[in-house]
Amino acid sequence: MAQFDYDLFVIGAGSGGVRASRIAASHGARVAVAEEHRVGGTCVIRGCVPKKLLVYGSHFAEDLKDAQRFGWTTEGATFDWNILRDNVAAEVNRLEGLYGQTLGSNKVEIFHERAVLTGTNSVQLSSGRTISAANILIATGAWPSVPDIPGAGHGITSNEVFSLPELPKRAVIAGGGYIANEFAGIFNELGVKVNLVTHGDRVLRSYDDEIVDKLVQISRHKRIVIRFNFRFKSIIKQDDGSLLIENTDGSTIETDLLLWAIGRTPHTIGLGLEDIGVQLGKDGAVMVGEDNRSNVPSIYAVGDVTNRVQLTPIAIREGHAFADSVFGNNPRTVNYECIPTAVFSNPPIASVGLTEAEARAQHADVKVYKSDFRAMKNVLADRNERALYKMVVAGPEERVVGLHLIGPDSGEILQAAAIAVKAKLTKQDFDDTVALHPSMSEELVLMK
Ligand code: NDP
Repeated sequence: MAQFDYDLFVIGAGSGGVRASRIAASHGARVAVAEEHRVGGTCVIRGCVPKKLLVYGSHFAEDLKDAQRFGWTTEGATFDWNILRDNVAAEVNRLEGLYGQTLGSNKVEIFHERAVLTGTNSVQLSSGRTISAANILIATGAWPSVPDIPGAGHGITSNEVFSLPELPKRAVIAGGGYIANEFAGIFNELGVKVNLVTHGDRVLRSYDDEIVDKLVQISRHKRIVIRFNFRFKSIIKQDDGSLLIENTDGSTIETDLLLWAIGRTPHTIGLGLEDIGVQLGKDGAVMVGEDNRSNVPSIYAVGDVTNRVQLTPIAIREGHAFADSVFGNNPRTVNYECIPTAVFSNPPIASVGLTEAEARAQHADVKVYKSDFRAMKNVLADRNERALYKMVVAGPEERVVGLHLIGPDSGEILQAAAIAVKAKLTKQDFDDTVALHPSMSEELVLMK
């Protein structure tokens, strides 16, 4: 008779939790997972996937305009938010079903309810049932932050934005990070008057300054209003349903929708972690070592709840490494160096490695190569929008330590180039590669 009901109990069926459950089960572990919302987690249900589909959907506004220069008649084309929203929701439902099937076919038991810890080896489900497990994995992700100011509840977050009953005429997006810039692009393309307001003097702080400056310049050209150093004082709901946003400097903005996109906080409130002595960071993150183990030996955590790198592919790798290490007799850790990332703004940004400023702080001998160009299709479309590719190299051998792109499809272009940066190739290696012509990616091997 086994000592515990399960070898592994996972709390949270998002990207990290699902991967960990499936791999642990494939190694022969008896696994159960509890999910209080929907299987798939933030990325599939209310993050990367529906967002990317909205990016595609909204971009047709520009594509249809540009198509006319390519000989197409697009007059009379109309847009229906309900159709896009409902089709995206249907795709999310389909993926949720697939995730559930994957767990089922790997014999992972799913409890569609909340679980909280009641001991170092036990959890209680909201139905009241108590379950014991040799190991417990916390994979509860993160939750959108909302500031503690009067009327903040009149705003929505990325949790609600995918199911808007109708598109607003005006939107204020609070924040200057990933979600703010991505939704500024989506809403603006769909004809919403967008104000992006952030509290600091920069947007996308972790990205290369010049690339970000280019995004700000292009966004403003596309009529997105960007305001820096904005301090929210209060939000007042007016009689006509609109919102009045007050800045601490006395200025106000009137809007129909306020989207909070000011960061995401590890989702640990009420999980019972502190009661059993699990060490949490000041933001509530579960503190773990590189083996994903907390200070309580039977409790592990992966993904956004650990607040190391809040990205889906990282949560997946952490979940996989955890399962291989604990149940597959194959101890592995995740390498966090050279993680390629993209912001699906309009145009998108993609980046890997060190920014120019970071490289200069870390290396004595830094050089920057650039290509500032207009994509061929933008030329014919008469769209005065330039792309910028930037390569940061260090040392006498000119090793590429950073690549930063803004321009059409930059996320698609960067992934392959990121392999070269990760493999520590040099500028000469790029130059030795024959250009694939005509393409935007050929600029990577033609930089001056
Ligand atoms: P981010 O951490 O990316 O950005 C938060 C932004 O909000 C920053 O610009 C910050 O400014 C600003 N901010 C913070 N507090 C306030 C405030 N009180 N008033 C106004 N502005 C404020 O958060 P997101 O919510 O956009 O995204 C959360 C995480 O989700 C990201 O970090 C990312 O890891 C992940 N994500 C990834 C995506 C992708 O890979 N494409 C897409 C979406 C999300 P400052 O920097 O000056 O403090």
